Amino acid sequence: MLDKFKDECGVFGIFGHPEAANMTYLGLYALQHRGQESGGIAAADRGQVRVSRAMGYVADIFDGETLAQLTGQAAIGHVRYSTAGASGVMNAQPILIDCAHGQIAICHNGNLVNASELRQELVAQGSIFQSSSDTEVVLHLYARSKAGTVEDAIVESVSQVQGAFSFLLLTDDRLIAVRDPHGFRPLALGRLGEAWVVCSETCAMDLIGATYVRDVEPGEVLVISADGARSIKPFPPGPLAHCVFEHVYFARPDSYVFGRSVNEIRTDLGRILAREQGVAADVVIPVPDSGVCAAMGFADESGIPLRMGLIRNHYVGRTFIQPQSSIRHFGVKVKLNPMREMLEGRRVVVVDDSIVRGTTSRKIVRMIRGAGARAVHVRISSPPIQWPCYYGIDTPTRKELIGSSHSVEEICRYLGADSLGYLSLDGMLKATGSDPANFCHACFTGGYRVGMESEPTPQLRLFDA
Ligand code: SF4
Repeated sequence: MLDKFKDECGVFGIFGHPEAANMTYLGLYALQHRGQESGGIAAADRGQVRVSRAMGYVADIFDGETLAQLTGQAAIGHVRYSTAGASGVMNAQPILIDCAHGQIAICHNGNLVNASELRQELVAQGSIFQSSSDTEVVLHLYARSKAGTVEDAIVESVSQVQGAFSFLLLTDDRLIAVRDPHGFRPLALGRLGEAWVVCSETCAMDLIGATYVRDVEPGEVLVISADGARSIKPFPPGPLAHCVFEHVYFARPDSYVFGRSVNEIRTDLGRILAREQGVAADVVIPVPDSGVCAAMGFADESGIPLRMGLIRNHYVGRTFIQPQSSIRHFGVKVKLNPMREMLEGRRVVVVDDSIVRGTTSRKIVRMIRGAGARAVHVRISSPPIQWPCYYGIDTPTRKELIGSSHSVEEICRYLGADSLGYLSLDGMLKATGSDPANFCHACFTGGYRVGMESEPTPQLRLFDA
């Protein structure tokens, strides 16, 4: 409902635990923010891999009976928001196949930029696809591989795909984690007693009591079996391209992503934003939940008190159907409610992580004014989004991104704010505390590092909205 880039997918895997499916269920529960459309778990037991997949939230998909059927000491799981391929249970993951190398299940966080051309070649050669998901291409390449071992067949198939991928694969006796050489999407490795855990974000480890060990490295193939964990580095190192938007918005603030605390980085984004875009005001309020950490940093740095001036209703699910209503801005009011006593007569700085189309931000500004604010200054803890993402994030087309076709002054006018300030690209990269060259920031700059040309510019002028 809110105007955001959509989270992509989350993966979780565990090897060597007597309750592998139950642990995976809990891990997926912690990763639910990364995809709410479908979920699934595959588990391996005594030479057989079984899978259960369905549409909906993790808590609604799996009951005790379903989990009890997913026996075994190894499991992988997935939550999905469709990025490549249509929505529908046939595109839910893990995808399980049986082939000359035996059974294998796969789940994927990311997006393969050459999947369409590979798929066309495979179809021309007789392959039959079950889904429209880009991930299935990898399974076809794997099934056709003449390599003598499972690991060699995986390396052979994965070396043909390009783009963003953090894969988990499960056979009857091993769990394999693969991360693309650019490290677009996160993938963390941990231990739970003797068991191994691999997952998108460390918040999933926290829930089950596992300990973070390290990240699966970009370009690494990690094979976990009864013999332990073995690392293979079959791919030539590529330039790193960690998704900076994981730090800005996607990841949970209580996670460590790319080895750093998301909360700390997000707070630093707010601090630097206050230095770059300071303004005289009486109160700082976050747009919950996306702007909370940055608003705390902004308030710390500026000395302006932080207040929760907007209260979020957390129980509005994806299935909420907006009834016909004459109430103005009904959609955003269902989700956010202004606290008049904190806003009336005050000069307000409202902090959020990003502006995509601008539609929700405009309603929020009107809502705050309607609650009696004397001035509304909008501050955004990332630069203007100008380009779509091809690496596993659901984004609108370029012409729908307000930052692609409007100056900051024009956007400010559209929002109806007294002022608007974005964080600079340098400021955002500085807040990561890492080498700026290690990050993808193509949605802000158009600098796609893998497989894409920058789109021409089909601009749309608005102000009639
Ligand atoms: Fe992340 Fe943006 Fe790069 Fe996509 S384009 S991977 S959202 S930084």
